[in-house]
Amino acid sequence: MLVSRAYKNEDTVIDLKGEKVGTGKASFVFGPCSVESYDQVAAVAESLKDKGLKLLRGGAFKPRSSPYDFQGLGVEGLEILKRAADEYDLAVISEIVTPHDIEKALDFVDVIQIGARNAQNFELLKEAGRTNKPILLKRALSGTISEFIAAAEYIHSEGNGQIILCERGIRTYETATRNTLDISAVPILKQETHLPVMVDVTHSTGRKDIMLPCAKAALAVGADGVMAEVHPNPAVALSDAGQQMDIPAFDKFYSELAAFQAKI
Ligand code: PEP
Ligand code: MN
Repeated sequence: MLVSRAYKNEDTVIDLKGEKVGTGKASFVFGPCSVESYDQVAAVAESLKDKGLKLLRGGAFKPRSSPYDFQGLGVEGLEILKRAADEYDLAVISEIVTPHDIEKALDFVDVIQIGARNAQNFELLKEAGRTNKPILLKRALSGTISEFIAAAEYIHSEGNGQIILCERGIRTYETATRNTLDISAVPILKQETHLPVMVDVTHSTGRKDIMLPCAKAALAVGADGVMAEVHPNPAVALSDAGQQMDIPAFDKFYSELAAFQAKI
């Protein structure tokens, strides 16, 4: 397989506006669950800039469990993200959910995210593989590690090898967390593929009280990065209101994580 270490032993490094993902030094992706307004995104972007961080996330096309929940601002959301990212010199990561929106997204995003619900949408994976944009691929809701690797192979097989794998928790019988963070997936994916591996501590745990130790665990087992959601006023968020950090919580989370990173 093209994504395997047996095929290429050198680590894939992805350059996002100067932030090199996959070098061994962890990268961080923060931003709101959904893009709601320019002011909302800009507040998070400013906080990233203050910390010297480069990678801003935000959902414009939201794959919601209920059709009656907020579905995202669509292309308008991508425009807002790009405006904020340009203003604060950040790179944008945003999820695309249908093959025909991939081309539209190319003008607005630096990384196309393929979410857990679409991680086995093979037509979407192939279309993402025909672009030259880096792709952040989440693990499927109940996806095995080998299915995760095969999904990445779908992208690579079309010509695009710039893929970041993102462990985001899997469905298990456990109810104490939103999903079960499979920390062991990180060293396995690092061993079996040459791709950078990140851990999303928001959608895996769904619990703000344990995001920091889980993010530390991710770095300790060799993750190339951590993703978490940040919103200036989570109480009024249109999605994932319960699990996004506000800016003061984000400040504390990041300073403790960065201090941990410096020690390992
Ligand atoms: C997200 O990152 O916005 C998201 C919906 O995550 P996941 O696909 O992992 O559920
Ligand atoms: Mn979310």
